[in-house]
Amino acid sequence: MSGTENGSGAVDVIIIGAGPAGAVAAYHLARAGRSVLVLERRSLPRFHVGESQVPYTAELVREMDLWPAILAAGYPVKRGAEFIFPNGDFRRTDFADQGEGRQPAVFQVERGHFDNLLIRHAVAAGAQLLERAVVDELFIEGERVVGVRYEHAGVVHEVRAGHLLDAGGRAAKTAKTFRTRRSIPWLQNVAVFRHYDGLDESANPGHEGDIQVGGHPDGWVWAIPIWSDVISIGAVMPATALRAAASAEEVLDEHISRVPRIVARLAGATPRRDLHVESDYCYFSDVVTGPGWTMAGDAGHFIDPIFSGGTFLAMLSGREAARAVDAILRGPEREEELQAAYACLYKTGYDTYTRLISAYYESDYRLGAYLHQRGFSIEGDPHFARILSGDFWSDNNPFGEWLRAQPRWDTFAPYERVTTCPVYPHIDALERAPVLPALI
Ligand SMILES: Cc1cc2nc3c(=O)[nH]c(=O)nc-3n(C[C@H](O)[C@H](O)[C@H](O)COP(=O)(O)OP(=O)(O)OC[C@H]3O[C@@H](n4cnc5c(N)ncnc54)[C@H](O)[C@@H]3O)c2cc1C
Repeated sequence: MSGTENGSGAVDVIIIGAGPAGAVAAYHLARAGRSVLVLERRSLPRFHVGESQVPYTAELVREMDLWPAILAAGYPVKRGAEFIFPNGDFRRTDFADQGEGRQPAVFQVERGHFDNLLIRHAVAAGAQLLERAVVDELFIEGERVVGVRYEHAGVVHEVRAGHLLDAGGRAAKTAKTFRTRRSIPWLQNVAVFRHYDGLDESANPGHEGDIQVGGHPDGWVWAIPIWSDVISIGAVMPATALRAAASAEEVLDEHISRVPRIVARLAGATPRRDLHVESDYCYFSDVVTGPGWTMAGDAGHFIDPIFSGGTFLAMLSGREAARAVDAILRGPEREEELQAAYACLYKTGYDTYTRLISAYYESDYRLGAYLHQRGFSIEGDPHFARILSGDFWSDNNPFGEWLRAQPRWDTFAPYERVTTCPVYPHIDALERAPVLPALI
């Protein structure tokens, strides 16, 4: 094989994709001293859906020393989430209700801008990035992935690596090569969305910066400010609703009109011309690792976007995959064991998130009453607030435990659950500690 274009020969790790999973993995691997080549098929910055973030992402960003860049970017600050029900009533989760120690707010982003910021940070840490480099084949020797073939500027290149990390999102090469993907039958929606200029948050009847999620009998609508004067609006619905409509634009406008609190927020804002449609996006993989390769982010799993956890799970799994891959390169004889541990963490996170989303759909867009009947609440409930913020692992959360106890939402084949939060392990441990009796 010819090696990378800078003539450096084989690298420690090839990463497919410069989205959040790939960028975070590249950063952590480069910081660990690994030679990393990130191959991204598009020019950056590139458009991407996925703008609303969860508060646990703020902690991942803090540990990467990215706070100054995030603050300088001027993204809208998100302190809560407003859920509007089909009858017009609404409730708000305040992220401060998570309790002590956790980040009580996060930001919402224009993804092209945010993803570019993440990958440039990885490059500054020492990762090599090649844009417009399309990976079209994996090299497999025996059962082991040992490199890739990619096309760049009309020339085909081949490169070997100690490990391949597939962060290629929905287009993941390993998912196709090893046929790992299965669909989630009860969630097959489509989304129609676009950006609006001229946002004036003084028209927002709720809280500045919040996401709004407006349910109606045929789906739900999101409102996510991505800059101080730009907002993203999307309508999620069964594919049949889009097929029955005269046009995607018409169905988007009609669904927005059903949610008066979002209509009010849009006063004076004007839609951009480009409208986006996403479909067929819910799937999972029981196999997320193999000899010489590991998946992170959407490569292995994707579920409906209602609770904004996709980017967080991509970043968290990117970090955890980087740790596992670095350890594998140090001790190749431990590959199976390290990959098994990573797969359990990956599956626990995505499984809990899938259950949360399934509960929303089961509630028939009446999440408030649904939670209340089960002893939880959208407002003032630290356990619900934590799950909404990214607490997808800890078994010290009764709401998470309830979600995981519902067999009708099982996807993955049985695996060993991870029960400790990988984002705030110290707080998780403290909250489990028995309260000492008074010493005097
Ligand atoms: C309708 C919709 C709304 C959403 N809303 C939200 C939201 O509000 N909040 C949220 O957190 N998440 C949301 N998501 C989910 C979010 O977009 C994803 O979970 C997130 O982008 C996953 O990051 P990733 O790094 O795994 O993959 P991606 O961000 O998709 O990155 C993968 C990268 O790999 C590159 N690539 C792919 N194949 C190749 C190849 N062969 N060679 C080289 N490069 C390749 C791609 O060009 C891409 O840049 C939404 C998703 C959908 C469908």
